[in-house]
Amino acid sequence: MDVLATRRVLFRFILLLGSAFLAEPVVAETINGKVVGVSDGDSLTLLISGNRQVKVRLDGIDAPESGQEFSQNAKEGLSRLVFGREVSLRVTGKDRYERTLGVIFVGGVNANLQLVRQGLAWHFKKYSDDQELAQAEIDARAARSGLWAGFDPMPPWEYRALKKRPQGIIGSAPAGSDSSGATATAFWLNTSSNARHNSSCRWFGETKRGRYCGPEEGKACGECGG
Ligand SMILES: [Zn+2]
Repeated sequence: MDVLATRRVLFRFILLLGSAFLAEPVVAETINGKVVGVSDGDSLTLLISGNRQVKVRLDGIDAPESGQEFSQNAKEGLSRLVFGREVSLRVTGKDRYERTLGVIFVGGVNANLQLVRQGLAWHFKKYSDDQELAQAEIDARAARSGLWAGFDPMPPWEYRALKKRPQGIIGSAPAGSDSSGATATAFWLNTSSNARHNSSCRWFGETKRGRYCGPEEGKACGECGG
């Protein structure tokens, strides 16, 4: 064998080896089915062959939680896009609630991406480094589409974290508080420094001494603007 032939054989061997190792992650599983339920802005139920139902969590995005502003719009947006339609699900994994994670395609449209473009969901950066989703959120914010039309919306993951806190601000408002009770406690006051942090700040709920407070208390944090 001459050098070239040897190289060719070697190249084929590497290709073969490569495809054997890559076969699993590269060839993603695709499931076709009909959307028979939409639970919220980022999860749905798919009816697939064998009359089986699959709970799906849209991967890489996070829609406002029920109880948050815009959650109903997000749910309606996803319904408009997919409910009752035949779709393909590109499976990417399972989430910790055993729901199937994936990307939904409906009539050639990537529904996950579409929802972020329309300002109906956030790019779920903690679990996704998808550049298209990142750019879609930047564009939606710039256009003030959907949830970005409002003032400084709270990311759903922060909202969930807040709900888990024992003295969480969401849920039962203190007795005697009016409907503005929610915003009256939407900030965090560092009671040592008297600095007030908004919910996007890294110090929100994280200072050693502190409590939830209203927008008028303390001095605005230099970092987040309070
Ligand atoms: Zn701050």
